[in-house]
Amino acid sequence: MSWVPSSLKKLIEQFKKLPGIGDRSAFRIAYYLLKDRDTLKGLLTTLKEVDERIKLCRVCHGFSEDSEICSICADERRNSGILCVVERPEDIYILESVQDLGWKYHVTGGVLSPVKGITADKLNIFDIRERIKSEGFRELVIAFSPDVESDATTSYIVNLLNDMDITISKIAIGLPRGIDITLMDPFTLKESIIGRRKLK
Ligand SMILES: [Zn+2]
Repeated sequence: MSWVPSSLKKLIEQFKKLPGIGDRSAFRIAYYLLKDRDTLKGLLTTLKEVDERIKLCRVCHGFSEDSEICSICADERRNSGILCVVERPEDIYILESVQDLGWKYHVTGGVLSPVKGITADKLNIFDIRERIKSEGFRELVIAFSPDVESDATTSYIVNLLNDMDITISKIAIGLPRGIDITLMDPFTLKESIIGRRKLK
């Protein structure tokens, strides 16, 4: 690729870092943007704006815009008494797109994985206790994608909250193991929310 200008090569390398983008796609997108300069400029502005405005919410660790506390945490109408624990900020978006749940959320930032060296202190798990106390939740709904590591994380959370007066349930029961909840069809996801299983 010595004939490719070095700045363009850099751009292609950046695109290759994105999920689902291989060599050919990176190449195609980069060349497309060079031809469509309006889209290129729009992308530049938007990326800069997102970088400057989107932060992690201090309470739930989801995404927040221009504020330390996100719009979900700040919404007093969300008083269902349910706190839903998810792995990633984007999982909130998926659950919210299924139906108006009126829940609040808590993003752990991952699941326990001894192999990858991810221990509980590296995740946002311990502050769940504080939130239950200060915000008075009655039910904790765990919504991890079903796999072995998330099962271990679920057990860890149940143990951590063992002495607290709170119902704990888990969605995604009966779904194929290894499926990512962001890839679930809305109907299946909705069914798994309604049919969530009580753990404690
Ligand atoms: Zn928040």
